[in-house]
Amino acid sequence: MSRPQQITVLGATGSIGLSTLDVIARHPERYQVFALSGFTRLSELLALCVRHVPRFAVVPEAGVARVLQDDLRAAGLSTRVLVGEEGLCQVAADPEVDAVMAAIVGAAGLRPTLAAVEAGKKILLANKEALVMSGALFMQAVRQSGSVLLPIDSEHNAIFQCMPNDFARGLGAVGVRRILLTASGGPFRQTPMAELAHVTPDQACAHPNWSMGRKISVDSASMMNKGLELIEACWLFDAKPSQVEVVIHPQSVIHSLVDYIDGSVLAQLGNPDMRTPIANALAWPERIDSGVAPLDLFAIARLDFQAPDEQRFPCLRLARQAAEAGKSAPAMLNAANEVAVAAFLDGRVRYPEIASIIEEVLNLEPVVAVNDLEAVFTADAKARVLAEQWLSRHGR
Ligand code: NAD
Ligand code: MG
Repeated sequence: MSRPQQITVLGATGSIGLSTLDVIARHPERYQVFALSGFTRLSELLALCVRHVPRFAVVPEAGVARVLQDDLRAAGLSTRVLVGEEGLCQVAADPEVDAVMAAIVGAAGLRPTLAAVEAGKKILLANKEALVMSGALFMQAVRQSGSVLLPIDSEHNAIFQCMPNDFARGLGAVGVRRILLTASGGPFRQTPMAELAHVTPDQACAHPNWSMGRKISVDSASMMNKGLELIEACWLFDAKPSQVEVVIHPQSVIHSLVDYIDGSVLAQLGNPDMRTPIANALAWPERIDSGVAPLDLFAIARLDFQAPDEQRFPCLRLARQAAEAGKSAPAMLNAANEVAVAAFLDGRVRYPEIASIIEEVLNLEPVVAVNDLEAVFTADAKARVLAEQWLSRHGR
């Protein structure tokens, strides 16, 4: 039998990271953990190292690394601790690595994910912000290195599964008319508009169907998550923004659909559990057990669909505008959103102000071409400064 595949999990202590390790642990004959990274929750990272015995662990700074290295030694492990972005890029690109789970949240994941792409690894992409920021450059790097890019976002993994067989062989989305991107509508789908100014971070993070990290949970509540996913879908499936329709489907059973020119609509269904798309991407083109329970259609009984209301979800409108503008606009949208969401989670801004901050940033800063990574990070930095200026002008 061939040796187990070596997997690096970037963002191992997060929601996607833990689900990935759960699937990996079910298949020790197929997968071995090569490296794990964590940013906070370092005692949890230590516990994960003890459980999965990686060759490397990566932490944000040297002081933390010394403590973890001592703890690992005391636990009898020879795991080596690396530091910072350099360490992340090293474990993403190491010649021994077969696949990289990119599950760091936000712009911080871009360089390590690109390092994995450039090294030609199989990429399991959860870190949608990386692709949103640098779409054209990212996809160009994928083509150049011949890296296999597999979407982990449940919607994109569903679309990937519903695409023509030849799509994965680089032959394009022949016969595809539209992509129908489903969204649950999040916890505020029916909240009276007047109450939205008073909702708390914990309410925003109480997603009806999915358990996720706090940033993506707020994005789901505002539907910025769906806006980022619209941009993500355009890059992954070579679609125009006008070909991607957002459909609110509160049960989160259909994870997205592909509409073909002959009138066929293919959907992927399943329980809302990220271990399904993770297992699909890990084993692709094979199938493995993910630990997810079989879907019980009789218990679900009905599936509902609604058009999204852009008055209620202005972030969705802003993201669609950024998708259409292209160039630096998606990177600025993403950066402004990261600052606004962090401020909301800290209790410094109200929920409706997230959209106000992003809209102001997009209106103030002209859209420019982004021909290299430096231009992407310049756009990202400008948007962060403008968003911070909004915060200080409003005394936050
Ligand atoms: P999370 O907050 O639970 O975990 C984030 C991980 O990134 C943690 O391991 C954390 O330590 C690490 N991290 C945070 N900031 C970092 C930094 N500056 N540098 C290095 N590492 C850092 O988030 P999550 O819910 O697991 O989401 C991870 C990514 O997957 C996000 O991009 C999200 O949009 C995407 N995603 C998540 C889900 C889900 O169900 N959770 C679904 C689809 C896509
Ligand atoms: Mg998703």
